[in-house]
Amino acid sequence: MIEFYNSKTRQKEKFQPLKKEVGLYTCGPTVYDYAHIGNLKAYIFEDVLKRVLQDNGYKVKHVMNITDVGHLVSDDDTGEDKVEKKAKEKSMDAWELTRLYTEEFKKDIKKLNIKDPDIFVKATETIKEQIKLIKTLEEKGFTYEIEDGIYFDTSKLDNYGKMANLDQREAGKRIEMKDKKNPTDFALWKFSRPGENRQMEWDSPWGVGFPGWHTECVVMAEKNLGIPFDIHCGGIDHVEIHHPNEIAQSKAAFGKNPANFWMHSEFLTVEGEKMSKSKGNFYTLKDIIKNYTPLAYRYLILNSHYRSKVNFSTEAMSGAENSLKKMKERVINLGNEKGDPSSKYKDKFLKAVNNDLNTPQALKVTWNLLKDKDLNDSVKLATVIDFDKVLGLDLNKEVEIPKKVKELAEKREEYREDKKYEKADNLRSKINDLGYDIEDVKDGYKLKKI
Ligand code: AMP
Ligand code: ZN
Repeated sequence: MIEFYNSKTRQKEKFQPLKKEVGLYTCGPTVYDYAHIGNLKAYIFEDVLKRVLQDNGYKVKHVMNITDVGHLVSDDDTGEDKVEKKAKEKSMDAWELTRLYTEEFKKDIKKLNIKDPDIFVKATETIKEQIKLIKTLEEKGFTYEIEDGIYFDTSKLDNYGKMANLDQREAGKRIEMKDKKNPTDFALWKFSRPGENRQMEWDSPWGVGFPGWHTECVVMAEKNLGIPFDIHCGGIDHVEIHHPNEIAQSKAAFGKNPANFWMHSEFLTVEGEKMSKSKGNFYTLKDIIKNYTPLAYRYLILNSHYRSKVNFSTEAMSGAENSLKKMKERVINLGNEKGDPSSKYKDKFLKAVNNDLNTPQALKVTWNLLKDKDLNDSVKLATVIDFDKVLGLDLNKEVEIPKKVKELAEKREEYREDKKYEKADNLRSKINDLGYDIEDVKDGYKLKKI
């Protein structure tokens, strides 16, 4: 049985796909800059979710959008468009800018062993469909026009924002009212302002402008998965605004909540504060891989539950790097012979990940497997390779043996063939000094990390 925490009902629920193939939509990056590693935490969580579903035998159709227009500096539809603002600052073509950072995003996720979605879809590719959706909402009486755009009237919908804690939202940060009818109303179409010189803008029945961010995702999900689909994911901040606004449009236009399950991952923090571009307390993957391997970051994230905050620090990263290195060394030392996976450990592993993606527990099971004295190496190897389909930590990929060690081993082999055993022994101790052990096997030798 698979259980996931569903933000829609605020409880763990049994997962049952609607159709044979699981439909998964994950809110993708806004490509105005490099992703920071907090953003990447969300994509690691979604990748694990997909891998767990696949490990349970489901086929998954995964759609991720690329937000290349319409995401304003503030999620409450105020401020400049992030892409236009950055393009201006860099004196760059906005299309070129988004192409560049989309490519950088794809490189980042590859480094973290995050599998590509089946479909990447850019917001700018679906403008026609977005206008159509807004038209439908207009015809059904859910929209009104004010000076800066077309807005969704949230008071027209029963239960608007059920998933969000609206009281908190009202009391706290919210919101610049302008001429809006209700504080929670949001922009569907924004007009280009005179003198703004936007690079990305389109004609529409209401005037030249661009779509609101919340509309993009509804359209891209509906177009590629149909609604309702199974699971919709994003970062925890989407519970308050972006996702209630997606649900509102979908309910108004199609009469249904677009997804059965809504799953959200908690924030990456730095000294207890959310990592964010605006606070300036962020690191990109490029920054951290100067000192650590990318998969050490994946290990760090897997070592906490996705609904827990992770505090990023150099100590935490070094700890993760160390643990991953040790785990990989243990796997390398298992040799090459693969037996049948242990069903006892596989059951424990599945029990962990199928329980709302308990990856810290799954790592514990992996450690216990590797330390189990009663299992032989070939069984351990087969089992760990199987676990790695979900963990994605490249556990059975060789830790690179340094060139120097390999050369010494080759030389030692020559001495042994010439029966110069003393010289061979000297080289063995040199190899040991470098942290490796050499074992003589039937047709040669095997190097192991000590
Ligand atoms: P964006 O590219 O700004 O649209 O954000 C991409 C994803 O990263 C969204 O799902 C956000 O909720 C998520 N996110 C943003 N900041 C953080 C953070 N500090 N930790 C974890 N996830 C985050
Ligand atoms: Zn979205």
